[in-house]
Amino acid sequence: MRCLYRICFAYLLLPFMMFCGCGAFGRCEATQQMTPLLIAVNDAPVPFRGSDGLVHLVYELWLTNMSSGEADVEEVEVIGDGAVLEKLDTTGVSHHLQPAGLRESSEVLARGTQSILFLNVVLPNGTQIPKQLLHRIKAHYSAAPPGQQEFVESGGATTPDLQPVMEISAPLRGDGYISADSCCESTRHMRAAMPINGRVYVAQRYAVDWEQLDASNRIYSGPREKLESYTIFGKPVYAVADGVVAVVVTGLPEQTPGKYPANISIEEADGNSIIEDLGGHHFACYAHMQSASIRFHRGDRVKRGQIIGLVGNSGNSVAPHLHFHVMSSELSLASNGLPYQIDEFKITGATPGTKAFDEAEEKGEPITVTPVSPPRVVRDSLPLDQLIVSWTPR
Ligand SMILES: [Zn+2]
Repeated sequence: MRCLYRICFAYLLLPFMMFCGCGAFGRCEATQQMTPLLIAVNDAPVPFRGSDGLVHLVYELWLTNMSSGEADVEEVEVIGDGAVLEKLDTTGVSHHLQPAGLRESSEVLARGTQSILFLNVVLPNGTQIPKQLLHRIKAHYSAAPPGQQEFVESGGATTPDLQPVMEISAPLRGDGYISADSCCESTRHMRAAMPINGRVYVAQRYAVDWEQLDASNRIYSGPREKLESYTIFGKPVYAVADGVVAVVVTGLPEQTPGKYPANISIEEADGNSIIEDLGGHHFACYAHMQSASIRFHRGDRVKRGQIIGLVGNSGNSVAPHLHFHVMSSELSLASNGLPYQIDEFKITGATPGTKAFDEAEEKGEPITVTPVSPPRVVRDSLPLDQLIVSWTPR
């Protein structure tokens, strides 16, 4: 044992060696292999159906570089019950891997550091949900001896969490809503990994910032800093299911659109908001509403489809919108984000993506919309990112 210890610390190199525990007769009983990258999944994915009709597995893979040099992740394969479900090359990894605590992505893990790989594994049509997921990672370790720097290891075994996905109704009514920063490639919500109470939570993993277009495909017309310029401002927000009000925040002012407010505390980040207990450890968060529009108190019962407030721009918000998500507890940050499926909606179009959306919002110009004609009626699905959606009460 002392010898192994010395090898590790003399070179701090690592993998590259296999050790056998040998019995009295020299028979190898077990293999011991250095694994310079620790691979782990903390929150197993909950499979859900996206509005593309496909099943998605969204989760985070934690990588810890235990070597004394850089680890350059070159390839990641997600394996479900032995079959490769997803493969990220270096470019894919560089877009999805973020050093812990940072919002910029990089395929390189500095020595002795941890990064999070944000994954969206889409199952091909007809594929069974795998019983087990495993990850095979090829990386280049600069501290390893020449000729041994490329190393492949497997880990992060996890079992998809087959808890029922909550079915809800829409939080808004009408036409022209945009599912901004929704699942599964947009970074704002899905990668909001927050260190809270001693662990990391991604409460907003499936959050959407709902905005609304006018007849000219503008998010607002008129002065940007005026709340009433925004199509969505003042629109009613509806309870998505029967439930009990768990948390209410009111009394916060409307922010001036166009810039994020300075010095917003964690408690005020959601603005005037309601967290509704939907039962079964599912909680809906409706954020950034108008203070005077909320007339509920903790413990009040609400019915599916009941108006619970009006869209505003309170809290940490740059423009009037409804931030909506479902999570595992009434704590807005110390929660695990959970998927949900909306009973019915119509997709009438799609934007080119987040970048185009942000530019249109910044400049106050119409956004380019690719129409879906005739509109596609979608049932029991989570609206994916940057779709134009219509809702009518069922
Ligand atoms: Zn949001």
